[in-house]
Amino acid sequence: MSARSLDVLVVGCGPAGSAAARTAAEGGARVLVIDRRQEIGQPVQCAEFVPTPMLPYTKVPGVLTQKVDGMLTFLPSSASHASAFPGLMIDRGAFDKVLAERAVAAGAELWTAARLLRLDGQIAEVQHEGVIHRIEARVVIGADGPHSLVARSVGVPEQQVVYTRQYTVPLLQPYLDTDIFLSDDFPGGYGWLFPKGEVANLGIGADRRFEDNLKLPLERLHRAMVDRGLLGKAVLARTGGAIPVSGLRPMVHGSTLLVGDAAGLTHPITGAGISAAVISGERAGEAAAAYLESLDPAELADFEEDVRDQFETTLERAVQRRKALEQVWRRPAAQDDNIMRSGWIAFEEYFAA
Ligand SMILES: Cc1cc2nc3c(=O)[nH]c(=O)nc-3n(C[C@H](O)[C@H](O)[C@H](O)COP(=O)(O)OP(=O)(O)OC[C@H]3O[C@@H](n4cnc5c(N)ncnc54)[C@H](O)[C@@H]3O)c2cc1C
Repeated sequence: MSARSLDVLVVGCGPAGSAAARTAAEGGARVLVIDRRQEIGQPVQCAEFVPTPMLPYTKVPGVLTQKVDGMLTFLPSSASHASAFPGLMIDRGAFDKVLAERAVAAGAELWTAARLLRLDGQIAEVQHEGVIHRIEARVVIGADGPHSLVARSVGVPEQQVVYTRQYTVPLLQPYLDTDIFLSDDFPGGYGWLFPKGEVANLGIGADRRFEDNLKLPLERLHRAMVDRGLLGKAVLARTGGAIPVSGLRPMVHGSTLLVGDAAGLTHPITGAGISAAVISGERAGEAAAAYLESLDPAELADFEEDVRDQFETTLERAVQRRKALEQVWRRPAAQDDNIMRSGWIAFEEYFAA
């Protein structure tokens, strides 16, 4: 066992962890960021869509793959609805790597293949290169995703998640929309087709309480898109993963902070979480550095307040919409276009009081 102490330990080097490590290091803190993955960003578990305000983060060769203009939402009756939905498709592996490189360039130390085993107060046990390290950190930032061990260690109950399955498939023609499929075939989630140049990410999410088998509905959706003439039959890559859907969790626990998916910042209806991960991570890193200077806990409380100001209303609405939809899945009402409209962000009914 080796022992060391430092200012900030960031657990997880996804978008939230990289952003936190970078801003904490820029603020003058001695930062170590760890990730259990061998290679940052791999394997990709993402549909790779980000909203337009993320453009500055994509201005590195290899990150931006294409722009998207609109959203085409398919309702249970097969009626479709077109809406404006500008955004960017990225290479998520390259994106995560660039963010991690920026953290390192700012002075953060990065350990890959390094797993947090235990966190007890400010003392972390980390396994890295066959050695157990006992690391004492003045601030710990939990950026360790949906099943955050940091969150569990500070006593936060598990969050509800939706499971996903996604294929990357050939895209047979240039396509500028994101297609969304609202259907009882994907209860508690939805189907998506996101274009990425010559390929597309085709996926589904579902709540396991209503549907445990994601393979069959995804294969049916794939066949339907092949019949539509939009996609090829080949499956070039497969992925999936968990998406938190129960909304915000308390983010400040003494001098341990939670960010990104670990803080429940992913949108419970759309599953989008990259942008909130980056924003919350950046703010947490800044707050950690300011707190280490002043030792004023208000710096940490301000971090949570700022993140809540920005995201809470949107996430609360999404949690409420999920609750309403949970009453209809696997019932006749799930075939009702009007009910589905009130549960999806492309429709004004979603935003009604
Ligand atoms: C299939 C799928 C599609 C998605 N599509 C989109 C999309 O198109 N757009 C969008 O905005 N969002 C999307 N999301 C959500 C998005 O991926 C997440 O919101 C985002 O990754 C959150 O970033 P994060 O840094 O908080 O967590 P993560 O990216 O999950 O990073 C957490 C990191 O912590 C590491 N880690 C975990 N435990 C430990 C430990 N004990 N020790 C060391 N390291 C640890 C993990 O290896 C991981 O690298 C999708 C999610 C899934 C599953």
